[in-house]
Amino acid sequence: MRGARVPLACALLVACPAFLQADEPRHLKVALHIHSTISTGTVAPAAIAALANQAGLDAVVFTDSALRRWEYGLWPARAWIRRVVEQPSVLTFGAKRYLDTLRSLSTPELLVLPGLEAAPFYSWRRSPFDRRGGQIRGWNQHLLVFGLEDPRAIRTLPLNAFDPYQGDRGAAPYQRVIEAVTAQGGLVFWAHPETGHVGEHGPVEDYTDPYPHLLELTSGYHGFAVTYRDKLAFVEAGGVWDRLLAAYCAGRRRQPVWILGELDWRKPEEHPLDRVVTMVMASERTAEAVLRALRTGRMWVVFRIGRQAPVLHRFEARALTGHATAGIGESIAPTGPLRIQVSGRRGSPEPGQARVFLIRDGAVLQMEEVTAEEFDLVWTDDAPPARGFYRAVFQGPAGLIYTNPIFVR
Ligand SMILES: [Zn+2]
Repeated sequence: MRGARVPLACALLVACPAFLQADEPRHLKVALHIHSTISTGTVAPAAIAALANQAGLDAVVFTDSALRRWEYGLWPARAWIRRVVEQPSVLTFGAKRYLDTLRSLSTPELLVLPGLEAAPFYSWRRSPFDRRGGQIRGWNQHLLVFGLEDPRAIRTLPLNAFDPYQGDRGAAPYQRVIEAVTAQGGLVFWAHPETGHVGEHGPVEDYTDPYPHLLELTSGYHGFAVTYRDKLAFVEAGGVWDRLLAAYCAGRRRQPVWILGELDWRKPEEHPLDRVVTMVMASERTAEAVLRALRTGRMWVVFRIGRQAPVLHRFEARALTGHATAGIGESIAPTGPLRIQVSGRRGSPEPGQARVFLIRDGAVLQMEEVTAEEFDLVWTDDAPPARGFYRAVFQGPAGLIYTNPIFVR
């Protein structure tokens, strides 16, 4: 293994969009997981689109809550003493009206995509020792759903399909929603798996533990999202994400698990719309191109901490012999040593250490501190795995970057 910086020529080529070839994908800045006044947000959809324009985003993906309905059955007489509470959601607003409202906000500058946040299940717990009237559990275990074009597919999602009085049902309610969405050609990503929740819900307590284990117990979904408030242990080298990717490489999972950045945004006072963005490699600024990129892992995640977020120009694997190359979300055949390149920009000049990590099969293969504003790191892996993956992480004072993997297979 040897490390070498490639000087000027390469850095100039990737830093300057004018040099990009016509068939290079565009890098769209996309804000994902946004709630409007249609569900739990405080800002109307048109005003969110205006904020997104101001923030310089190329696309926003709304994910208003699909259904917000709970039943409190009073023990021991729940069969006839029960209270149903329903709050605003996509289904109370109307699925077709939701799709039409959001699509009508798209302009040549800003693409607006309708998605959903689905809470497939909660269970009800009541014990004589509860201080409050009881506890609903697991309501904040959420899935993000994209690309459902047909309002009927939204209306018929199997939400709250399991009896809440029978206790925890493990992965089954989530697996059922994943299958319903993918059967309709939609995309499903787990939302905020590291986020637990303790709150109040009317007269009862609302309790959810973090749920990384559900990603290992379910299949057929496209990935997961990370947000700024997470511990991000999930995406550390050798964490749950790397285990899922290793399972895919070993043939124990049928599809890869991609990373997305999510805001879980409800109001502008919490944080700006560009605090977490997903950079999407799309051939054009259309819903189809963005959804295709999300399905195939052609994206990476940027958290902005400083004034200007760090930038990734390129993460690429290239065979030393022959012409094979692979970028984010792609695969390269194992034909001998590989040259791995990570280039980018540190972001705004807050003091502090900035480092780039190259992770191979769940372990840190290379780590390098970057001090210059622009960085361009090239490593050679003399013995790449026959089946495996590489991914890159940037950690600096101005922000964080997580790439999706490049597979060797
Ligand atoms: Zn959520």
